[in-house]
Amino acid sequence: MGYEEAWRRSVDEPEAFWGEQASLIDWQTPPQRILDASTPPFRRWFVGGMTNLCHNAVDRHLQARADQNAIIAVSTETNSTREITYRELHREVNAFAATLVELGVGKGDRVIIYLPNIAEAVFAMLACARIGAIHSVVFGGFAAHNLALRIDDAEPALLICADAGMRGGKVIPYKPLVDAALREATSPPPRVLVVNRGLDAAMAWVEGRDVDYAERRAAHLGETVPITWLESNEPSYLLYTSGTTGKPKGIQRDVGGYAVALALSMTTIFDLQPGQTILCTSDVGWAVGHSYNVYGPLIGGCTAILYEGMPTNPDPGIWWKLCEQYAVRTLFSSPTGIRILKKQDEAWLRTYDLSSLQWIFLAGEPLDQPTYDWLTRGTGKTVIDNYWQTETGWPALSLMPGLDLKPVKPGSPGFPTFGYRMRVIDEATGEDKAAGEKGVLVIEPPLPPGCLTTIWRDDERYQRSYFGHFKALLYSSLDWAVRDAEGYTFILGRTDDVINVAGHRLGTREIEESVATLGAVAEVAVVGVADELKGQLPAVFATLKQGVTDHPADVAQAMERRVVELLGALARPGCIYVVPALPKTRSGKLLRRALQALMQDTDPGDLSTLDDPNALDEIRKAIARGPDCGQRRV
Ligand code: ATP
Ligand code: MG
Repeated sequence: MGYEEAWRRSVDEPEAFWGEQASLIDWQTPPQRILDASTPPFRRWFVGGMTNLCHNAVDRHLQARADQNAIIAVSTETNSTREITYRELHREVNAFAATLVELGVGKGDRVIIYLPNIAEAVFAMLACARIGAIHSVVFGGFAAHNLALRIDDAEPALLICADAGMRGGKVIPYKPLVDAALREATSPPPRVLVVNRGLDAAMAWVEGRDVDYAERRAAHLGETVPITWLESNEPSYLLYTSGTTGKPKGIQRDVGGYAVALALSMTTIFDLQPGQTILCTSDVGWAVGHSYNVYGPLIGGCTAILYEGMPTNPDPGIWWKLCEQYAVRTLFSSPTGIRILKKQDEAWLRTYDLSSLQWIFLAGEPLDQPTYDWLTRGTGKTVIDNYWQTETGWPALSLMPGLDLKPVKPGSPGFPTFGYRMRVIDEATGEDKAAGEKGVLVIEPPLPPGCLTTIWRDDERYQRSYFGHFKALLYSSLDWAVRDAEGYTFILGRTDDVINVAGHRLGTREIEESVATLGAVAEVAVVGVADELKGQLPAVFATLKQGVTDHPADVAQAMERRVVELLGALARPGCIYVVPALPKTRSGKLLRRALQALMQDTDPGDLSTLDDPNALDEIRKAIARGPDCGQRRV
């Protein structure tokens, strides 16, 4: 079956299509009803079916692939590699689950997991899933305050943490952050389970509260904890969004729909059969990490490489080296990750034997053409852009090499995946836009399996944030998009990232892309700032590549010329600043609203997800100094 036919069936005959896909996973009790969409915008998939994510990710494979590697945990921080077979994974997860039970954690209880990208994070997630506890992984890079906010929202029965993480060879103590977060939180969990890696000798234990995981593991190794079967629509986990636009939302995922969607995506989108290997460079703390470091590959019987470390450590060839060493078939990374490599010598792309590698998937941000070209040229591989949100849980737009690979169009993540009926509509009238016209990307309910079921304990916010934007009941992605005549969708940026110059709407992405075509530019962010005459004008912030010695003012002028040349005088930036770094969230996404707030002296909103607060200080100084090109004040 080709893509069109399969996709059409998934949206026109959802019950038949998804009813068939249900057999991709094991059910303790099969679903009684495939879809209940009687109370939109809510919907329930595989109603009455009893299943379990841990069973499908681990136990199910014991018969056919007990001795195959399930997880290969590589750390270039601690210089260690752990190859964990499905049999060993089963043993570790059971010991972990027994520990949770001992600590009083049961079905429906929330467990916060605040761990680095290490095997124990996977054990902890699967152990929660096994006993029906709801995990909420908080990215290990988040500070105490971010953690406290999530603790108070989730009200966990237990928090699991490590003594420390490492970044670029530097030990980053986690435990003091946890202690501070628990002091700040109003609903701190009674117990903290500590995975002591021996990285922070100075770690303090809180008597009566903190529990040493190594001890409990030793006590429970060899035990088996029975699976707690869950109704398909019960919550499996919570995951907070990156907070690029505002306060993070506790995205709630179900069990059966998620498992089925992931199983289907593994073969059709990521083109991975059982026994094959994926390297996903994400962190378990992100949506991509949940789905393609942990649940997707394991449900699919694959081998997943989990990587703790920088893309450039010990050298910028590390990802490619892993691809050679473990015969990786599919690499999944982000444009940000590739842009870090792009600052380095291109020869690294050709240092290792990449003959096993078939596909490079990138998601999380717009994939700019220079980065796409660099990677495609350097590796000779097919680079596939895919678009999704924490909310969707798996790609919503992608090409599907496992089913029917359509030609890649750089800049476009392609076509809707199964069950996604998407439209590009006018933000004011809600009317469909014609091909080539910009609009808001929306999804017609029912949302496919795998997508969020609600926001944790806040159905009202779920309805308002996603379905409250148009007269018709439509899920707004809050992203701008345009579709070409062949149906390829291009994402133009977030709806709050559009600039209105003299009545013309310009996507920040278009301007960023034209600036990025200059060889000297490493990264660029564009925001709209108020202008008395024209409404808004683009303000450009750019970093230069390592080794560029040109004067910033000269490069800035070249940027201005390039934008005018490619987009016309209308898009001429009001001001251009060459800065040492751009503000990004911990997940590597550009925090444009922070730049905009600095330019206009307005409230930037929640900045707690900012990765490096110093970046903002430098930008503040640059703004005070005046632009490298353009007017002093816009
Ligand atoms: P918050 O919703 O809290 O503001 P966030 O939207 O940054 O945070 P995520 O769910 O991690 O949190 O990111 C999803 C967003 O990332 C998408 O809505 C889109 O703006 C962007 N994105 C993801 N993949 C792509 C892609 N392939 N091309 C363009 N943009 C993408
Ligand atoms: Mg979002």
